[in-house]
Amino acid sequence: MLEARGALEAVVRGRLSTRELDRLATGRDLWPLTLLWLRQGKVPPPPDAVVWPGTDDEVASVVRIARERRLALIPFGAGSGVCGGTLAVHGGVMVDLKRFDTIGPVDPVRRCVDVGAGVMGETLERRLAARGWTLGHFPSSIGMSTVGGWLAARSAGQLSSRYGKIEDMVLSVRGVLGTGERFETPERPFDGPDVAQVLLGSEGTLCVFTGARLRVHPRPEARVFRAFEVPSVERGLEAIRRVFREGLRPAVVRLYDPFDTTFVGRAKPASPRKAPSKRSALEATVLPGVLKRLAIETLGRPGLVNPLTRLATRSRLIFMCEGEAKHAAAEDRAIAAACLSMGGVDLGEGPGREWYRKRYDVNARLPRLMEAGTFIDTMEVSAPWDAVFEVYERVREVAGAYALVLCHFSHAYADGCSLYFSFVGSGRTEAEIEDRYQQLWRAALGAATSAGANVSHHHGIGLLKARAYQDSLGEGRHALATLKRLFDPDGILNPGKLGL
Ligand SMILES: Cc1cc2nc3c(=O)[nH]c(=O)nc-3n(C[C@H](O)[C@H](O)[C@H](O)COP(=O)(O)OP(=O)(O)OC[C@H]3O[C@@H](n4cnc5c(N)ncnc54)[C@H](O)[C@@H]3O)c2cc1C
Repeated sequence: MLEARGALEAVVRGRLSTRELDRLATGRDLWPLTLLWLRQGKVPPPPDAVVWPGTDDEVASVVRIARERRLALIPFGAGSGVCGGTLAVHGGVMVDLKRFDTIGPVDPVRRCVDVGAGVMGETLERRLAARGWTLGHFPSSIGMSTVGGWLAARSAGQLSSRYGKIEDMVLSVRGVLGTGERFETPERPFDGPDVAQVLLGSEGTLCVFTGARLRVHPRPEARVFRAFEVPSVERGLEAIRRVFREGLRPAVVRLYDPFDTTFVGRAKPASPRKAPSKRSALEATVLPGVLKRLAIETLGRPGLVNPLTRLATRSRLIFMCEGEAKHAAAEDRAIAAACLSMGGVDLGEGPGREWYRKRYDVNARLPRLMEAGTFIDTMEVSAPWDAVFEVYERVREVAGAYALVLCHFSHAYADGCSLYFSFVGSGRTEAEIEDRYQQLWRAALGAATSAGANVSHHHGIGLLKARAYQDSLGEGRHALATLKRLFDPDGILNPGKLGL
């Protein structure tokens, strides 16, 4: 690295740092395993240097210099990834894209906007909102992630059922390949291969994104919330499937399994259309308190609590429709009919509004839970409708030996939906906690994929899921390896991630 320093510094006009603080701040992300390491005084491998290029030409020159010296380059957005995607496992240079921070004017006829890869999500949405537009992309990490990170990890926002994932919002992308060549993909080609879609989700292993043209929408005129209590997870899933098969596009759909329902709380029904049964009343009053208390007191022994969670069956289902007022209201009515036909009890708009108000709150609670000598992590996978319930059952069964397991289903589509598992565990020593964490992931991801799930819906692959991802590709592995050789012939871009 030292002999490349002068050349790199000249290209980025002095914006290079080898200070320990900069190297430590960028050579990490929010992968919970690295937080367990930090608790043990172990630091994730830092890069040798950080550079802040400001133009596509500067990025191209950085890549060419790295190729000549066989230096690893790791693109860096805001480090909010949770799979170890920005760890400098081979040392090298962190390429921080924050200076790509421009937001162009909205084209109202084509309904699109040009955005730099380093723009933070919250800034983008605020600026668009001030002009009467929205991207419709609201990941829970919107305040700590960039457009480039979204493109690289195929991010999904909370309203993805209506607006799609980030790959559905992209009209074109630009950046630099691992060859050092600049590229800009044609806008949504209707002919020939779609190169943008090949590069999206590549997590810095094929290219460095510097910007994108994204589709925008007028800000919604109205939002309508409604929640239901459904008799079981299966009934709830069937209600959601029917809603999407009917062509309805609610912006938010969230089905909490009984244990997760316990933790999201049970707001009083605003105007239940049916009196709750005795069992439902018991589940709503006594069981949540018992489960919560047991869960907290027996974190190290999940085998005690997980079986008890099966006593509860009733689940909370939340919808939010938005858009033109009359369309949102009509969608809401059709959704209510589907849910009531599945035995749902209408809880009114309260729980949905409450979720919306608190939709980013979990972020603040995570570090505190991690500091309390536990581990907490989430696994989001997706599955087609005929496999969703099987994935749910299999993961709960195997993961339950290592951690408390909660799950909600969100990001629903006509083909299937994502399952978002939360795991909370502990152990007697830090070494035992780390060991349990590793075993949990191997077992849970293995169970999910063998039951028909993808390895990720929106958190990406990074290091955490690299092996499982490669295994899931089957013969497709060769095609990906060939792309890697073409786009990054010297293997300098983010080595090790995605198993490349
Ligand atoms: C509390 C919390 C909640 C979250 N909620 C969501 C959610 O709701 N939806 C969701 O999708 N994700 C969520 N995430 C995960 C994370 O925010 C996303 O993966 C996000 O897309 C990462 O963006 P970033 O800018 O922080 O990227 P980073 O973490 O910096 O990088 C992620 C990966 O992308 C690569 N990369 C970054 N920028 C570029 C670029 N310009 N060109 C090429 N490669 C690049 C990196 O090398 C790395 O491999 C959450 C994370 C946390 C901690």
